[in-house]
Amino acid sequence: MTPIHTVGERPLPVVLPPARDELLSSWLRRHAVFYGITEPMFLSWLGLGARSLRCLDGRLSLGQLARIAEKFRRNPKAILEMTHALLPAESASLVRSGRMGQFCRVCWDGHLAADAQGVVMKSWGEGWRVTCPVCGSALSEGDRPRRSDHTVRDSSPFSKHWDAARTGEDIVNRQLRGEATPLASPVAMMRLLLILRHIQVDASSGLYSKSWLLDEIVPGFDAEALRVSPSISKGATAFVPLHLRIALLAGLATAAKDAFGAIRRLRPACRLFYVRRFDELAAAALGESGNFSI
Ligand SMILES: [Zn+2]
Repeated sequence: MTPIHTVGERPLPVVLPPARDELLSSWLRRHAVFYGITEPMFLSWLGLGARSLRCLDGRLSLGQLARIAEKFRRNPKAILEMTHALLPAESASLVRSGRMGQFCRVCWDGHLAADAQGVVMKSWGEGWRVTCPVCGSALSEGDRPRRSDHTVRDSSPFSKHWDAARTGEDIVNRQLRGEATPLASPVAMMRLLLILRHIQVDASSGLYSKSWLLDEIVPGFDAEALRVSPSISKGATAFVPLHLRIALLAGLATAAKDAFGAIRRLRPACRLFYVRRFDELAAAALGESGNFSI
């Protein structure tokens, strides 16, 4: 291997092929491992002025983009496509920048077989997916394979809603590709479904418990959502763990069939405190036709 200090300002002598859907930080990190240097050393050698490789996934300056393209002899467009920098803001809020909570077992094994261990795919941080955009397999919960080989399709308490969840996932993907969808903003509808509804009294304990509007469409959501810690957001973002996402995307698919009807039905169940928020998200979800009358 060529010692790094002889490389100077020239491109890297060996550039590893990126895996399909690989995150930029993952690809760069694999180079650091390949050249036997630490991530901070690699960052400093690249001269990118970034705190970590991971923060390049969300935003890249033109200078950073040009430098990576030059060092790795790649088209800047291809580099940019390895990041989430081009996502619209509302979808970007569904991307996890920290530890990944989902992965594709089939692709994981494929990376190992191709001697590309350590690959992290973009889709593993994307909170609107239940399937892998590369191979179509159901995703699994966690950040790596554990003892169980179960995908979320098998392990989620909402497995019976799988087909509807796939439809919901497809609605978001179509919108991101700029294609027509039944909603102006599927993500706004997802956020709306996570607004809290009237306080419910737990029949068994007599205590008040939290309840989400989504439970009106997908009964049983509350019971599962209450188990999640830290508590899932109240419509602030629509990011929920993978096993709950099946319910959320299924709810989206159902609501999209008759968006006006769903909004009329859900609004009276909304907690008073959140009605204004509800109306804003309903208007965003419906788009120009958002002047719904209750
Ligand atoms: Zn896959």
